[in-house]
Formats: sequence, C-alpha cells, structure tokens
Amino acid sequence: MNEILVVVDRDSSGALAASTAELLGAAAAVGSPVALLGIGQEEGPDELTAELGRLGAQRVITARVDSSQLTVPLVDATCAADDTLSPAAILCANSVHGRDIAARVAARLHRAINVDATGVRTDEEGIVTDHSVYGGDFLAVAASTHNAPVVTLRLGAVDHRAEPTEPSVEELEYSSSDTRAATVTRTTPQDDSGSRPDLRGAARVVSGGRALGSEEKFEEVVGSLADALGAAVGASRAAVDAGYAPAAHQVGQTGVVVSPQLYIALGISGAIQHLAGMQTAGTIVAINSDPEAPIFDIADFGIVGDVFQVVPQLVDALNQRK
Ligand SMILES: Cc1cc2nc3c(=O)[nH]c(=O)nc-3n(C[C@H](O)[C@H](O)[C@H](O)COP(=O)(O)OP(=O)(O)OC[C@H]3O[C@@H](n4cnc5c(N)ncnc54)[C@H](O)[C@@H]3O)c2cc1C
Repeated sequence: MNEILVVVDRDSSGALAASTAELLGAAAAVGSPVALLGIGQEEGPDELTAELGRLGAQRVITARVDSSQLTVPLVDATCAADDTLSPAAILCANSVHGRDIAARVAARLHRAINVDATGVRTDEEGIVTDHSVYGGDFLAVAASTHNAPVVTLRLGAVDHRAEPTEPSVEELEYSSSDTRAATVTRTTPQDDSGSRPDLRGAARVVSGGRALGSEEKFEEVVGSLADALGAAVGASRAAVDAGYAPAAHQVGQTGVVVSPQLYIALGISGAIQHLAGMQTAGTIVAINSDPEAPIFDIADFGIVGDVFQVVPQLVDALNQRK
C-alpha cells in the first residue's frame, strides 16, 4: 500500500495538535499513514508515538529538531523523509505552521501543492484532492499527474478516522540545509485556559455578528449558546472590528476557515467573505431578524427573529434536555 507522509503539528504545550487525528484519518483512507514527528534534542518521544499509534500511524519517524528555529528543521526533515520513503503524498495541516512547511517542501522538491483541501481521495490518476472554492460556490478537484502532491488539509473537513495501531518507530538521520531560519528569541504565553473548544477543528461553532451590539451582550448571548452546546465561539468581522470578540475568533475569508458539523450564525447577514469561512459546515443554522438576509440562502435551518429573544429560549430548551 502506498505510504502517505503526515507532518505532525504540535501545539504550544508540546502536545499533538488537534489536526493530527484528521490528518492520519485522511491518510489512512488513501494509503498507509506514516507520521513525521519533530522532537527536541533532549525529548523522549514515547508518549507521543503511542498517541500517534492510537490515532492510526503505521510508522512513526522521529526527527530531532532545534526547537529554537522556526520551520526550517522540520522542512529539512520532511524532505529527507520524502527521499527515503517516496510517499504517494505529503499531508500537512492547513494551519499557519502547516502551510509554511508545505509551501517550503513543495518549492524544494518541485512538487505540486494542493492547499486547503476538504477531502483526499484516489482515482485512476492517483491521489486527488477536493477544494471548496469561490466562497464555497464551487467544488474543484485537483490532481498532480507528474509526482506526489504536497497537500494542506482544512481542519474539520475530514470525518474519517484511522484504526489504532502499534506503530514501528525509527529515528530519521538528516542533514541541515543551512537555510536561514527565523530564530525564536522569546515567547509570550497565550492564555488559552478557557474551557471552550478551539475554533479550528471544533465540531460545533456558534458565531455572532454586529447585531450583538456590545462585548458583554456578545458573551452573554453567543457564549451561553456555545456553552449549552459545548461549542467553540466564532464571530463575523464586523463583530471583531467593533471589539465584541477577539480577532482570533473571526470566521471568513480573512479569518479562520472552519468546517464543523454544526454552525450557528447569530445576527450575521451572510456576506460572501463570511460564507467563505463556514460554507462547508455540515448543518448551518441562522437566526436573523431580516427574512431577506443572505445567510438564509445557505442555511439548512433558519429562524427569523431577534437573537436576544430567541437564543435565551434555545439555551433553556437545551439545558432542560441535559
Ligand atoms: C476584503 C474583505 C475581507 C473580509 N473578510 C471577512 C471575514 O473574514 N469575515 C467576515 O465575517 N467578514 C469579512 N468581511 C466583511 C463582510 O463583508 C461583512 O461586512 C461582515 O461579514 C458583516 O458582518 P455582520 O454580518 O456581523 O454584520 P452586518 O452585515 O451588519 O449584519 C448584521 C445582521 O444582523 C441582523 N440583525 C440585526 N439585529 C438583529 C437582532 N436583534 N436579531 C437578529 N438579527 C439581527 C441584521 O438583519 C443583519 O443581517 C470582509 C470584507 C472585505 C472587503
């Protein structure tokens, strides 16, 4: 079976990023997943490799990386692993870090790069990827007919999960390319101690728009529905610009692209730039006081009403069901 090289992202605490299960699931659907894990010079990889096995990696290749340098060591390692394995595709998360690695690897290896894929499949041409384009109005299918593609996968787009395995573990020997790399001189820890799920990769997202009117009302209305559903919180750009929600919560063309099972839009008109960030959600629910709001054109369920009246009733009903 063709091997698929998955470049594993790690979060700021060093744990496997939320994208890992999805990347390995997507890889398992088209081949045999091989995880490439960057580890620090002194780090023991045991716990992480066991976790990668639980998520379906058939092989784990560890690469010692200088964690004071951004991206370049892992790019060097990915190119070396590609040379050793000749995988049918290289998969990265469509995160800031994943895109950075994918672009550099594709440029170095002279490969096609298929970005922001919403699916990975095979047909008679080999690996093909699906892409939701033009704000989600069209589905494009991309194939690299001349060599193995480098693919970045949209978080939340792939439901398939791989079977747990007991992976073989090997350490990759590779040499540094001596490409200039940004060096980390200091880091500022982000407070992500909140109990809500991360917007990227969340199964459910509740987003609020300009209609919420203030930061306090945004938290009261959007936050309460999100908590009743165990959902992540998102926002339109108008809500972010008005200071109701942090910029990291912006969903859309210039924000985060999400693909949850459930997306609830509260007081959001449905501008094309917003739709570009959420149109591939499984089920879309919109609550808006204007029956002509464009969000209703793509909503599976719509409620014409005032969010300040509808949402508290919805939260009560959800809490009663618990
Ligand atoms: C280059 C560019 C990039 C952009 N990128 C993004 C992006 O990434 N994400 C994004 O979201 N936008 C983006 N925008 C902005 C986008 O065009 C819209 O302006 C924005 O999405 C509007 O946000 P909104 O729906 O919250 O506000 P509005 O368009 O003002 O809509 C508010 C809605 O709330 C409804 N409403 C009002 N009161 C109530 C109430 N009490 N109860 C229920 N409903 C109510 C109204 O009927 C209306 O439909 C971008 C624009 C440009 C030009």
